[in-house]
Amino acid sequence: MVFMLRTCGVNLGHYLTRTARNRPDAIALTCADQRWTYAELDAESNRIASALRARGFTRGTRVATLAGNRGELVVVEMALCKAGLVRVPLSPRLSAAEIGQVLADAEPRAVFVDRAHRDTLRPLLDDAALVVELDAGEGFSYRQLVAEGDEAEIAVDVSPDDPAVLNFTSGSSGTLKAAVQTVGNRLACLRKLAMRGTGDTEVYLAPGPITHASGMGILSCFFRGSTVVVLPAFDVEGYLDVLERERVTTTFLVPAMLNRVLASPTLAERDLSALRSLTLGGAPVSPTRLREAVAAFGPVVAQGYGQAETTSAITHLSAEEIAHAVEADPELLLSCGRPVFDTEVRVVDDSGAPVPPGVIGEVVARGPDCVREYHRAPEASAETFRDGWVRTGDLGRFREDGYLFLVDRKKDMIVSGGYNVYCTEVEAALYTHPDVDEACVHGVPDEEWGETVKACVVRRAGSDVGADALVEACAARIARHKIPRVVEFLDALPRTRTGKVDRRALRERDWTGVERR
Ligand code: AMP
Repeated sequence: MVFMLRTCGVNLGHYLTRTARNRPDAIALTCADQRWTYAELDAESNRIASALRARGFTRGTRVATLAGNRGELVVVEMALCKAGLVRVPLSPRLSAAEIGQVLADAEPRAVFVDRAHRDTLRPLLDDAALVVELDAGEGFSYRQLVAEGDEAEIAVDVSPDDPAVLNFTSGSSGTLKAAVQTVGNRLACLRKLAMRGTGDTEVYLAPGPITHASGMGILSCFFRGSTVVVLPAFDVEGYLDVLERERVTTTFLVPAMLNRVLASPTLAERDLSALRSLTLGGAPVSPTRLREAVAAFGPVVAQGYGQAETTSAITHLSAEEIAHAVEADPELLLSCGRPVFDTEVRVVDDSGAPVPPGVIGEVVARGPDCVREYHRAPEASAETFRDGWVRTGDLGRFREDGYLFLVDRKKDMIVSGGYNVYCTEVEAALYTHPDVDEACVHGVPDEEWGETVKACVVRRAGSDVGADALVEACAARIARHKIPRVVEFLDALPRTRTGKVDRRALRERDWTGVERR
C-alpha cells in the first residue's frame, strides 16, 4: 500500500480518481440527505477543478472556504487538490474581525461560502475575488461553477514543496497565524494513516468541524475506498444515531464531545457493535473519562497527540495500550502514547539538548509531515521551526519505556515561590476525586509567592463536594506548593473555538478582573 503511494505521483486528488475507477458505485461521502458515489465525487471535483483552471486559477493560487460542515466542502477540497490550488479553510466560529484578518493575510482569489456567512464575508472581501455560494441564491452558485467545468480526469503536476493548506490556528498563543502544510506534509500524513489502517474499507464518521484536523482522516478514507459520513452539526443524540444507523467503524472525538456523549442517557442501549476505532485527541482527556469510554465503547478507544504545526498525530496510544492501562497500568492512562511511524519526538531543555526520561522539558518533533513555516510570519516561524524541528510549546516527559506524558503548555506553567507547578499534574490529582467532572488549573497573583495555584472545578451533577475534600485528595498525591490555594466551582468551563478548555480566559479574569467573551 505504501509503495503504491509512491508510484502514483504526488497529487492527492489522483488517489480519489484511482479509487473511483475501482469502486465507482460505492458510497464515498454522505452528509444529512446528500450522498456521492465515488464516480460522482470524482466527476464533480474534476468539474470544479477544471472550471477554476479555466478561470485562470493556476497552481499555487489560494482559495478559501467559510462554511459549516457540509458535503460540498469535501468535494471542493478534492477539487483544489486536483487543480494544485492552496486551500485556506476558515473556521465558521471565527469572529468577523478574525475573518477579516485571515482574508487580509491569505488574500484568496475565491471563497466558497454558505448562506450563514455570506453577509459577514462580503464587506471583508476584495471586489475582484470570486464568491461561490454553496446554497442556491442570488449570487454565483456552486452548481453554476460545477456546470462550467469538464468531467475529464485532472491532476495538475505539483511538487512536494508546494503549499497545500494554510491552516490558521490560534494555537494557545491567541494570535491567528497559518501553518503552511505542503503537499509533501499531507502525503506523509496519508502514508502514516495508511500504515495504521487495516486495509479494509470503513465507515468513517467525522463529527467535528471538517475544516480542522479530521480532514486528513477523510483523505485516507478516499485512498482506501471507505465511506465518509459528515455530521452537519454536532449534537449528542444525532451523533449516536448515525453511529448506530450507518454501522460506523471509525470515528474521532475531542474530549469535550466525549464528555457529552458519555453523559447521554441512551448510550447504554445503542448497538455500537460495528465500531472498531474511536480516537480521541486535540486536548488532554482525564483517566476517569478514558475508563468510562472503554466501559461504554469497548477496547476500541485510542488517543493521538499533535497540533496544526505537525499536520497529524506525533504520538499515539493504541486501543490495546489503553485497554491494558485500564487493567494493569493506571499511570499510562495519563500518557498520550509513543511516537508514531516516521516521526522523531524528543523532550529538550532550553538549549535544545535532549533530557533523560523522567525530566520535564519542551516536546519537539521532526518528520515528513511536520510543517516548516508560518505564512508571512518570519519571527514566529523562527521561534517555532528550528533545524527541521517543530517546537510544540508543550512541556512533557518520557517514561523509561518511551511513553510521553504531557504536563503543560510552556506558557501556562505556574511559577510559585520559584518552583514550577504544572497545571496538568494538579488537574490529574483533582481528577482522582470521583465528584470532579472537569478541572482547569491556572496561576493567580500572590504577594508572597508571586503566583499561587487556583483550580476551577465543575462538580459531577448532584454533588456538593467542597474545596476541603478536593484539597485533601490533592494532598495525598502532590507536593504542598502544588495544592490549589483557591478553588472556584463553576457550572461549566469556558471553551475555545475548537472546544478546548480556555485556560487563558480563566487566567485573564483573575489577573485583570476582566471577563473575556
Ligand atoms: P491545535 O493545533 O489547535 O490542534 O492544538 C494542539 C495542542 O492541543 C497541542 O499542542 C496540545 O497542547 C493539545 N493537545 C492535542 N492533542 C492532545 C492530547 N492527546 N493530549 C493532550 N493535549 C493535546
